[in-house]
Amino acid sequence: MQTLRASKCGLSTAQLPSSILDVIDALNKAGYEAYIVGGGVRDLMLGHAPKDFDAVTNATPAQVKEVFGRRCRIIGRRFELAHVYSGRELIEVATFRAPPKKAVTSAAGMILRDNNWGTIEQDFARRDFSINAMYYQPRKGIVLDFCNAVDDIKHKTLRLLGDPQLRFEEDPVRMLRTLRFAAKLNFSIDEKILDVFTPELTQLLRDVSPHRLYDESQKLFTMGHLKRVLPMLIDFGIWHQLFADIKPDVNAFIELAAKNTDQRISIGKTINPAFFYAVLLWIPFQERCQFYLNKGMVPAEARAQAGLDVLKRQATRTIIPRFAETFIREVWEMQTRLLNPKPQQIEALSGHARFRAGFDFLLLREKSGDDSTQGMGLWWDEYQQMSTDEKERAISQYNRQRAKNRRKATQDEVEPKNAQQQTEIEPLVNEPEPRNRRQRKPKVSAHERTVSVVAASASGEIGADHPIMKRRRVKRDLSQVIFGPTQ
Ligand code: ATP
Ligand code: MG
Repeated sequence: MQTLRASKCGLSTAQLPSSILDVIDALNKAGYEAYIVGGGVRDLMLGHAPKDFDAVTNATPAQVKEVFGRRCRIIGRRFELAHVYSGRELIEVATFRAPPKKAVTSAAGMILRDNNWGTIEQDFARRDFSINAMYYQPRKGIVLDFCNAVDDIKHKTLRLLGDPQLRFEEDPVRMLRTLRFAAKLNFSIDEKILDVFTPELTQLLRDVSPHRLYDESQKLFTMGHLKRVLPMLIDFGIWHQLFADIKPDVNAFIELAAKNTDQRISIGKTINPAFFYAVLLWIPFQERCQFYLNKGMVPAEARAQAGLDVLKRQATRTIIPRFAETFIREVWEMQTRLLNPKPQQIEALSGHARFRAGFDFLLLREKSGDDSTQGMGLWWDEYQQMSTDEKERAISQYNRQRAKNRRKATQDEVEPKNAQQQTEIEPLVNEPEPRNRRQRKPKVSAHERTVSVVAASASGEIGADHPIMKRRRVKRDLSQVIFGPTQ
């Protein structure tokens, strides 16, 4: 172990937010050791802006709770941690950990519980990469380096502590972390890791919970180097584990969306983490739509069913939270709306909560060479920049063109007589009402049903139970699932 002067490593307390210093000071004052560790130290040494700062201490979570009282919450079961609120920030405070006991690892060697407290040396040994295992004591102005990690920083090398095969078996998510840090920091991966990191080994990810994999996938999408990491995910066989139904191919659309995501992050714009899932799953979604259309389903129903199917299958790998699922389906549904909007809905559509995401998606499709957007990406782009008068003119021009196209396409088809003039925009994806609020359908007894059919046929009218009425009712139900114009 070497003790380095923090100033020699380019570190100073001036770079630290008061929140992390407060936490370190309070723990020291209560008589505990406390260090900053992990990505915060690594990023500062590399001259990057750290995402956050993690603290580590010899105080157990219960003792941390005693120090911070109501500002502290203990979280996690597999990996117990203290969350300390300092000002408006949240600092994760971990306790030095010893190697896990045999009884808490799975048959494949995966660590199931990791709450065995230990010394700083033991804590060091169970961290993942050398560059993530430097302990910075800002008040003493020192950095504890147990494995010459500064050299790895200098040589831009990602090195796992211990035997890589064993470390991946203990926690297969470290494979994802390897690619994330290599891409994010632009580091080369140590030969010893490359020797064992085979597509076969990625099978171990099957044992990791879909919740954890979703979280990790979000970190991959939002680290600012998505474009760089995507081919790596394919090369190392991780893609197949995360996105089983998505062809391992960074097509033009995916690549442009990745580049766009990275750019947004670099200029501090927010991104919805579900957006990239909508991009990745776009082709499987369309293929599934086609499958249902070929079976004779109406387009709206095909889209609704295909969306559910594709997301459900993806959720077996990385869970898709409810909010993300709704967002993704709305972005997809917006594609139909934006492609063929009713003229009287155009202005309202441009103010829809999901318009921005739907439009960005459409434009990315168009810019990446998808001509099925029929130039509507650009049309909407221009539309948004127009004055009210210009918008009116653009809409009537669009209307004329649309009517012309329709006449051409459906020359001998008669328009429905009283086509509804809707100006209100309905929700794109209707959430089912909570069970207890759903109205119960009045039960119709078999006898009543027979009577109504008999009465109807006797009077020559069509009763509520006539097959044709059922067909209409099906249509109405569908409109409650997905609204909007069909193709
Ligand atoms: P960033 O926050 O920039 O994504 P980080 O290195 O801080 O990167 P965290 O997930 O915040 O990553 O974890 C903090 C530290 O905890 C890591 O630097 C590492 O020392 C340790 N750590 C996290 N996950 C693992 C893991 N799966 N195995 C071993 N150590 C880990
Ligand atoms: Mg961190």
